Amino acid sequence: MSDSSSYTTGGGIRVRTPGIPIKCWCGERIKELISKTNLNPYRRYYRCRYAAQRKLENDNHIFKWVDKAFTDEIQHLDYQVRMLEEEVQVLKATITSGPKIMKGGCLILGLGVVVGILMYK
Ligand SMILES: [Zn+2]
Repeated sequence: MSDSSSYTTGGGIRVRTPGIPIKCWCGERIKELISKTNLNPYRRYYRCRYAAQRKLENDNHIFKWVDKAFTDEIQHLDYQVRMLEEEVQVLKATITSGPKIMKGGCLILGLGVVVGILMYK
């Protein structure tokens, strides 16, 4: 799309999704590690820094496989895109029934959001 559409997605819209963990509930940041167990050799995972440093086991600090987190993330984005598509449909319906001046603005905003999400993906 045009340059003007990318400006609308520049700020604020990027939301941290629950797919890839960023912080543990305890306030510690998340570390990316590689599993060395026989069950999951070389499988990457996210782990709470606190728990990783103390080599905790059977705790309730964040632990999440990277591949699982990415699948979650993709599903979440897929859901977001579908919601946006619905929103665009609503906007389109509003445009056809609304006053002519609104046409351009709504369409560019709607497209901008969709393009922004697709590019983020
Ligand atoms: Zn923690």
